[in-house]
Amino acid sequence: MQVLKFGGTSVANAQNISLVKDIVANCAADNCIIIVSALGGITDTLLNAANLSSKQDEGYKTVLKEIETRHLDTVKSLIPVHAQSTILSKIKSELNTLEDLLEGAFLIGEITPQLSDKIVSYGEMLSSYIISEYFQHQQLDAGHVDSRTLIITNEVNEKAAVNFKITNANCKKFFSKTPHKIIVAGGFVASSESGNPTTLGRGGSDYTAAIIAAAVDAEILQIWTDVSGMYTANPKLVKQAKAIPHISYEEAMELSHFGAKVLYPPTIQPVLAKGISIEIKNTFKPEDKGTLITKNQNEKGKTVRGISHVENIALLSLEGPGMVGIPGISKRFFEVLSQAEISVVLITQASSEHSICVGISTDDIDKAVQIVNSAFEYEIERGKIKHVIAEQNLAIIALVGDNMKSHQGLSGKMFSTLGKNNVNIRVIAQGASERNISAVIKKDDVKKALNALHEEFFEENIKQLNLFVMGVGNVGAKFLNQVCQQKKYLKENLKLNIRVIGLSNSRTMVFDDGGIPLKNWEDTLASGEKANKEHFFEKVNQLNYRNSIFVDNTASADVSTTYNSYLGNSISVVTCNKIACSSEYSNYQELKSLARTYNAPFLFETNVGAGLPIIDTLKHLIASGDKILKIQAVLSGSLNFVFNNFNDQTSFHDVVKQAQEEGYTEPDPKIDLSGVDVMRKILILARESGNQLEISDIENKSFLPQESLDTDNNDDFFASLAKYEDDFQKLYTDAVAKESKLKYVAQFEEGKASVGLQEIPKGHDFYNLEGSDNIVLFYTERYPNQPMIIKGAGAGADVTASGIFADIIRIGNF
Ligand code: ADP
Ligand code: ASP
Ligand code: MG
Repeated sequence: MQVLKFGGTSVANAQNISLVKDIVANCAADNCIIIVSALGGITDTLLNAANLSSKQDEGYKTVLKEIETRHLDTVKSLIPVHAQSTILSKIKSELNTLEDLLEGAFLIGEITPQLSDKIVSYGEMLSSYIISEYFQHQQLDAGHVDSRTLIITNEVNEKAAVNFKITNANCKKFFSKTPHKIIVAGGFVASSESGNPTTLGRGGSDYTAAIIAAAVDAEILQIWTDVSGMYTANPKLVKQAKAIPHISYEEAMELSHFGAKVLYPPTIQPVLAKGISIEIKNTFKPEDKGTLITKNQNEKGKTVRGISHVENIALLSLEGPGMVGIPGISKRFFEVLSQAEISVVLITQASSEHSICVGISTDDIDKAVQIVNSAFEYEIERGKIKHVIAEQNLAIIALVGDNMKSHQGLSGKMFSTLGKNNVNIRVIAQGASERNISAVIKKDDVKKALNALHEEFFEENIKQLNLFVMGVGNVGAKFLNQVCQQKKYLKENLKLNIRVIGLSNSRTMVFDDGGIPLKNWEDTLASGEKANKEHFFEKVNQLNYRNSIFVDNTASADVSTTYNSYLGNSISVVTCNKIACSSEYSNYQELKSLARTYNAPFLFETNVGAGLPIIDTLKHLIASGDKILKIQAVLSGSLNFVFNNFNDQTSFHDVVKQAQEEGYTEPDPKIDLSGVDVMRKILILARESGNQLEISDIENKSFLPQESLDTDNNDDFFASLAKYEDDFQKLYTDAVAKESKLKYVAQFEEGKASVGLQEIPKGHDFYNLEGSDNIVLFYTERYPNQPMIIKGAGAGADVTASGIFADIIRIGNF
């Protein structure tokens, strides 16, 4: 004997029911019992009709019509025309009775739990009847039984307790006598000893199947549903979740108790007692292996088997000085809750006994607050206990696994993963069996927390980085191309899965939860909504993805003012925009401190020397205890390009123009030529070396005539360069006369920084600097005479983009 249970989606319509028939027809057992749910969604629809009629809302009639149409259509599609009329009239007659019940509720304007159970039981009654008739017309040897004659419960409605003695006897008797190979019965519905209709709780068809399987000593219980087993996390929320091949009863029970809806929690108990295995299978992919649930699971090496969560949790805390050392307070607290039939999902008590905190369903919170306050009225009046505190909009997230107890560090890993992603943990609980570690978190953080934990515990360390990119100019476009090219390599070799979720330029912005396809991001972006940097941030924050990184590829001061919002919400920032780090020291300091407080890296390697690892090296020197004595550097790829190409055969104006056109200067070339850009860079290096400096502290003797410095647009600036060509030529010939080359040098020593054009003699480290190269000499306590030198291309969109990329990978490895 086998028991097969088919859930709501599996029997939602004629097409699905025909798949069910194929599965049943292929069942190898001599006899099978088929337990079915109501047609998918019908239980909710029935409850909705009941609710409307109890509120005297005529709308219940429309809902009833919908219920009728669903069932009649299903019959018409499944049953041959000549045989339809008997079945249709039986269904119509049942629906007439249902209509009477709803009308009754409408007239009184009220619904009792008993009437509600009576109404809702039509779902399973009708579905099981239709399916058994269909099986018969498909030449299967099938019969039907009304489960209410088999499953007997107490008188409690909506989640009745089963009387196993009577139920088992009923089942044994019925199934030993039935002449049919297949019996179809509805799940969920039952009746009380006095004959009133009851139900086993939402999702209870699984339980019906388990009760019957245990009663008849079935070989196996199969739960056929719409997913291929019990997954490592709810597959609707975690795309990477996988079916768990083999799991123990206890693990399955914990997972379902903590929200894995695929199995109704009480289901395990009856089959566990008999040692009957459960298989969870997918009706739509019967070839998938699914999940096997048995006494022991044989995947010994695995510790965490699944992560589940329960939404709609509220915390109820009882606190007060009068609780310490007084026995009986918790007993009374739990008694009051239990008398009100409020089930407690999680309990913690501080070791000081100063407070007890329980997690309960949000639905029960108002009632709970009221009854607990009145139960402790005497103590509250005397100030021994405070009014009970309720907190809502929470969820429980739980790691489950039999072998967790023999491993240290799992809770540490769980909490640090949540912490890194700015998921605040309100309460922690660990079952004495150590089969489960649970944490109460904000409901809004559930998806992020599940995915972050899933990544940590199940995805062979594949880490997903979610990028939100602003700016797609020279650097931005190159960056996106590099991400597109490297995606596969990074996934395979560095276990980093990089996705661009949001993209914006100054005109439009787009978001795609699944990642923007990078092959044609231009078109996608062009069709986006109007850009707005505040809305962009709000969207990033609201998406609340783990490992979110904001990437600023602009040179905009406005954009740089948004970094604190990102960092303050644990969203990392990577930027090639120098404005933030060279703004007032207090702002720089605040950003650094936000990054530390919220565990969100703030990286700006490309602020100095494009892709060259200058800041990173500096950080390592300092972190390892070295001290910076002096920094000497040529930090402007643009000025280097200009002075390397400028000579008596070219004009200064033309060389600057060329540098601008080839992307070697800032969009406003005056920023480079005036030395402001170099000032910003040496300022950042000085700050990163631990010095508190402002841009105004930096000495800058500009080589540009005052008139050029005073221009306020690019055209005037270039015109002034042409006008002063003779002055520039003189700089050149003076240097050549001394066998020197012109280099724009930045220097920092003893707390003072300066920038300016210098004539560099032959033999100097700077003399042979080619093209747009940069060079930095770090004189430190460990490198006092021979400085540490970093040299290479220091400007250009490609190297800058790769520097941004490197920062992102640093975060990936963080
Ligand atoms: P049925 O109607 O077949 O009883 P349910 O809707 O009750 O199906 O349960 C199946 C659903 O449970 C899945 O579609 C999935 O969304 C949800 N679910 C939640 N957690 C898990 C999990 N860990 N593994 C599998 N499914 C889960
Ligand atoms: N039909 C009932 C429900 O939706 C029982 C079940 O499907 O398991 O809750
Ligand atoms: Mg279910």
